[in-house]
Amino acid sequence: MADTTVMEKLVSLCKRRGFVFQSSEIYGGLGSVWDYGPLGVELKKNVKDRWWRAMVHARDDIEGLDAAILMHPRVWEASGHVAGFTDPLVDCKQCKNRFRGDDPRIKGTPGEPDAQCPVCGTRGSLTAPRLFNLMFKTFMGPVEEQAAVVYLRPETAQGIYVNYQNVLNASRQKVPFGIAQIGKAFRNEITPGNFIFRTREFEQMEMQFFVAPETAGEWFERWREWRMQWHKDLGLTPARLQWHQHGPTELAHYAKAAFDIQYEFPFGWQEIEGIHNRGDYDLTRHQEYSGKKLDYFDQAANRRYVPFIVETSAGADRVALTTLVDAYREETVEGETRVVLGFHPGIAPIKAAVLPLVKKDGMPEVADRLYHDLRAAFPCFYDDSGAIGRRYRRMDEAGTPFCVTVDGETLKDGQVTVRDRDSMQQVRVAQAQVGAYIRERIG
Ligand code: ATP
Repeated sequence: MADTTVMEKLVSLCKRRGFVFQSSEIYGGLGSVWDYGPLGVELKKNVKDRWWRAMVHARDDIEGLDAAILMHPRVWEASGHVAGFTDPLVDCKQCKNRFRGDDPRIKGTPGEPDAQCPVCGTRGSLTAPRLFNLMFKTFMGPVEEQAAVVYLRPETAQGIYVNYQNVLNASRQKVPFGIAQIGKAFRNEITPGNFIFRTREFEQMEMQFFVAPETAGEWFERWREWRMQWHKDLGLTPARLQWHQHGPTELAHYAKAAFDIQYEFPFGWQEIEGIHNRGDYDLTRHQEYSGKKLDYFDQAANRRYVPFIVETSAGADRVALTTLVDAYREETVEGETRVVLGFHPGIAPIKAAVLPLVKKDGMPEVADRLYHDLRAAFPCFYDDSGAIGRRYRRMDEAGTPFCVTVDGETLKDGQVTVRDRDSMQQVRVAQAQVGAYIRERIG
């Protein structure tokens, strides 16, 4: 299967089965903005819930936060986004990289046919430089004037930095500790694309860990290990995950070190999460711009310092896409193609389908009761239409790990057939035990 075909098939499956729809589709769609359908919203929610459990509930050194999307405009001056995002930018239409207009590596004049992309080497693919701010601007209050400009946040991290002391004061935390947040971010990307990989509105799962400066290196290494393990625990194929270390040209000027976790998508190795040792840049800048002291007093050591920050920053949409790509497979079974989304059961949108073999002989009544019992414990689906083989295939395509079939025998022996999505093996399980059987396997 050609790699581009995989993405095309996946995009079409996502629409057909209700994972992802184009935004405002009946009006022709809105560029690189997507909506999650009934299955997609469950998938993304499961990804976010697993992240929240691992980062907040399972640890006693991280607190949760939900900061507003709109923030004081000075925040974006302090963070560097106002200045940093208004440079003249040049895009390569071929490899989608973006450069500053004055990048010394560019040969020729951007916008002209002779100009050559410094990354992919294509000639004539560079756009003319244009002043471009990645942040979406809007106005607060009734008057549309410069003084009323506010931005839709381009990252969730700043909401954490500006609340660092509030959280510290309100909780019993001491450095080292972290603050985690999941929320929407907006970037007016010039070259978005690849389905939900790069969009203009997306969700981030970010955690900022505040540490004593001399310990930042160790914490950085720990967080690298934990975050890679989290992606593996999500069921992603380990061979399709790798580290990418930022070289001197990629590293932000203030950053001490940065590594990306990359996944091998059909369109190449790409970042799904960044782990950064940001030094004391963020708190120092906010201290400077707000005039408020943001240092930390370490009572035990009797010293004051501005904490260093180790950041872990993942995209919920990008991780959801990764789980879809990783789960997608086609198999030939008895001469027919079977399309399967082999999700880790913990993130599958529907955990089990309940299927009466036929719509008669008391089977629908038993199946209906079972369905209502099971759906009290986890998301289930009831399907009584079409041949049983076709119903199994529909559930394979939705990534449902278990199908529970009520047949003629059930009425006699009280047992149902539980079919495993991946092995297609069927086992008989007592009706009263089937909930526990599935719960044990969905993690
Ligand atoms: P990229 O180089 O892909 O633009 P970035 O380095 O700008 O990403 P960060 O600012 O480090 O990304 O953001 C952290 C995470 O947020 C990324 O790893 C990614 O998962 C997610 N993310 C960033 N931009 C987008 C976007 N436009 N659409 C979807 N997810 C995004």
